[in-house]
Amino acid sequence: MLSKSLTSAARGTLLMSTLARSLSTIQTAPRMDLVSGPNVFASFSQQATKHGAVNLGQGFPSFAPPDFLVEAAQEAMTTPLNNQYTRPGGNPQLVQALADYYSPKFGRNLDAMTEIATSTGAQEGIWLIIMALVGEGEEVVCVEPYFDAYVKAAHLGGGTITGLPLRSTGSTGTSADFELDIPELEKTLSDKSRVLILNTPHNPTGKVFSRDELQAVADVVKKYPNLIVVADEVYEAAVFEGLTHERFATLDGMWERTISVFSAGKTFSCTGWRCGYMIGPSNLITPLQGAQGVIAFAGVTPIEVAVASAFKKAEETGYFESYAKMMEEKRDLLVNGLRDVGLEPVVPQGGYFTLCDTSASWCDPPAGSGYSSPEHETDPLWGRRDFRVAQMFTEDAKVTGIPPSASYSPHNRDPADNLLRFAHCKEDSDLTEAVRRLKEFKASRS
Ligand code: GLN
Repeated sequence: MLSKSLTSAARGTLLMSTLARSLSTIQTAPRMDLVSGPNVFASFSQQATKHGAVNLGQGFPSFAPPDFLVEAAQEAMTTPLNNQYTRPGGNPQLVQALADYYSPKFGRNLDAMTEIATSTGAQEGIWLIIMALVGEGEEVVCVEPYFDAYVKAAHLGGGTITGLPLRSTGSTGTSADFELDIPELEKTLSDKSRVLILNTPHNPTGKVFSRDELQAVADVVKKYPNLIVVADEVYEAAVFEGLTHERFATLDGMWERTISVFSAGKTFSCTGWRCGYMIGPSNLITPLQGAQGVIAFAGVTPIEVAVASAFKKAEETGYFESYAKMMEEKRDLLVNGLRDVGLEPVVPQGGYFTLCDTSASWCDPPAGSGYSSPEHETDPLWGRRDFRVAQMFTEDAKVTGIPPSASYSPHNRDPADNLLRFAHCKEDSDLTEAVRRLKEFKASRS
């Protein structure tokens, strides 16, 4: 009991200090133990800002979204009801626009209300899938390297993770060298497997799976009636060299078991808008709508309305063609620059990212030099070579990339030690400045 003689200010101070004590000893729920490490993308973005580095780390564009998208958002907000809750599962205008755009791509007449669900970012879409469809202890198989959010969502949702490595043949120096080992897929999948996550174009390698490669996966998947395939296609708009973006859901017999995941943030260069969506059969999609109704209730109304209008404008103006061409030119700019510096790139066939080889001795962080981010010294990832190279480049070369070992399960990380991922979804001036700084850094170390 508080003494009656305390002034109200003193009573407030006492209450605050009691609260601070109990909060400082509070235990997080055990489910947080597996996901509590620092987020590699957020950490390196913060480091880039702190050290004045060109940020080729986190996969967000440094250029502006198309004018028609920004204008559509401004316009959307002038309608009063567009500032209020929208339908859980997706604003009706957006799901209709998506049904119109994707029906020909999926070769079927998509039902806007039951075969499409929206989410606040594709990352939340992955979470909705895990929440709605993966039971406690069920297995999520992730092709690796992977976007680490799959693994964190699966852990938080109570699933178990099995990594399935892409193996590099190293023969062409392009992302086509990364191959999925089909006998290994056969050995990995079992009746306990609930979800297989396949990502094309692939982060971080840039691999674009061919139809034959996807068919080989489908042939194995067919044997497991309980297995759902999550086809992460958020980089679908960035496919290079005239390759075709192939959709797993369009393979014979695969529609019924596939949820395809997309990102308006990636396609329209507005990752901060958090606008994702999923397409699939109604028995897989309506549970996601239900989960969204409980979690965020609904998407962000004016953003969903703006993206609906953007899909129409994009088709009319040839946006998708010019976007793919622009991204390919940016890839070329970065790839050529990295070659000039002596950081041999793995030329990506699609997506936002380019891996490069940092095994040259001028990239070795000097022994005992730190470069392991003191903030994170308890996390085993942060002492690995690729993390230390990324930290050294950020602090001393003033260029930030992402260490790819964060994208592998613990026992498969070694191939990532001499790799670094740079994002080419950046202003040309950022790409050329990054290359200039890397050259200068190399000269200073030779
Ligand atoms: N997918 C993005 C990347 O790989 C990051 C997304 C995020 O930071 N949540 O950089």
